[in-house]
Amino acid sequence: MIAVTPSRLDFRALKRRVTIERVLAERGLLDHFQLRGDDLVGPCPLHQGDSRTAFVASRVKNLWYCFTRCRAGGDVVELVRKLDHADYHQTARYLARLAGESDIPNAPCAPPFRPFTTTLRLDPHAPFLLAKGIHPHTARAFEAGSYQGHGFLDGCVGVRLHNPTGQPLGYAGRILDPQRAQQRGKWRFPARLPKRSLLFNYHRVHARLRHGIVLVEDPWSVMRLAQINVPAIALLGTTLSAEQHNMLRPAPQILLMLDGDSAGQRAAADLQRTLTWARVGVVQLPPDTDPDQLTDSELAAAHRLFVPQIA
Ligand SMILES: [Zn+2]
Repeated sequence: MIAVTPSRLDFRALKRRVTIERVLAERGLLDHFQLRGDDLVGPCPLHQGDSRTAFVASRVKNLWYCFTRCRAGGDVVELVRKLDHADYHQTARYLARLAGESDIPNAPCAPPFRPFTTTLRLDPHAPFLLAKGIHPHTARAFEAGSYQGHGFLDGCVGVRLHNPTGQPLGYAGRILDPQRAQQRGKWRFPARLPKRSLLFNYHRVHARLRHGIVLVEDPWSVMRLAQINVPAIALLGTTLSAEQHNMLRPAPQILLMLDGDSAGQRAAADLQRTLTWARVGVVQLPPDTDPDQLTDSELAAAHRLFVPQIA
């Protein structure tokens, strides 16, 4: 037996018995990971950025490291402590439960996500948005713009996020400083945001799903398409959870308009395999081109070409 009383926490035994892989699997995170040699590689569950290679866990050493925003690593104990904001005792109880060595009830779980419902004053004339061809009235309609102030959105263009029924959840921030974006990932999301049950713009367009939908990676492409009256949904990344698949099920046709980089192309190929119920079209963009770099007529042409029936 492994002792889990506060006075006798046998972390060495717990670290031997519980793998990082097990912790990721238990939280439904493992399907975002790929095996490279003996390493599991995937998006960082701590900062929840959109890099699919940020987080590496060695299955041999049972150690992890986040190479982008966190720039930190450790063992399974540190991972659980950080994931759950838990103390050592709570972490030991949780790991002991996973190790099957303890049937102590009420193992700690992560504190629940708390929506941020305050409306922030964002400037829709942000040069970043104008450069993408997003009109200020569109930005205003989508509650997007630059933020003057300190805190979460400092140095970001923000955009409001909603749950599937349209309740505000808070803001996502696109980091503007290229160096910072390179190091930490382009996006900031609220802590513990339930990303796996979110699709950007879903609440505005779900009634139109039965006519078909365009799937893009980020909110900017959604806004550009909205300007030519094409309903679109952004993945806020490049993968879809089971829950997100279910949300899209009413759509008989889906047009994938992902970024032209290799991650976007790989994601399009993956999604084509998993969106089994729909007729799926794929817009192949030139390398390193995002949909928001196309002109309105190019966007409209791509859309017409692949899904002529979308109203
Ligand atoms: Zn990280």
